[in-house]
Amino acid sequence: MANLDILEFPDPRLRTVARPVEAFDADLGRLINDMFETMYSAQGIGLAATQVNIHKQLLLIDVSETRDQPHVYINPQVIESEGSETCEEGCLSVPGIYAEVSRAEKIRISAQDPAGNSFEEELDGMHAVCFQHEMDHLKGTLFVDYLSPLKQRMVRKKLEKQRKQEIKNTTGNRI
Ligand code: ZN
Repeated sequence: MANLDILEFPDPRLRTVARPVEAFDADLGRLINDMFETMYSAQGIGLAATQVNIHKQLLLIDVSETRDQPHVYINPQVIESEGSETCEEGCLSVPGIYAEVSRAEKIRISAQDPAGNSFEEELDGMHAVCFQHEMDHLKGTLFVDYLSPLKQRMVRKKLEKQRKQEIKNTTGNRI
């Protein structure tokens, strides 16, 4: 297994629209394992392939506190949605930024498993929020896109500042 690099906003590769998965083979299995390792080590509750610069329709979710309920969704679709709720979201690709986003409260989804079998599920709560957030990644959308232009500018500034701080820290450690 390997820990993959996570792309960070405003990297233009995060805007790539993912293509459907066609081959349900050993390479796909390896990618799924690597993505789980990456997601768990970054302490994320979800990860879309787009975030690790693989532009395939694949996303992973584990919203359990015990971190032992992995879900894999390949070629996922939302087929029904109802209600709306607002939840504070963060993103491994936009580190340190949290903002309120409105999403459907309940969704019915279809997807394929790693063997290519189709299934449907009903999701609600954080699982539904996370699924919609990851689906956006596959379309090249980030949660900060829903914020006002003013808030988006603040996000960019905060990230720039954080990165400068990180560079300073890294330099410090090397000396
Ligand atoms: Zn995200």
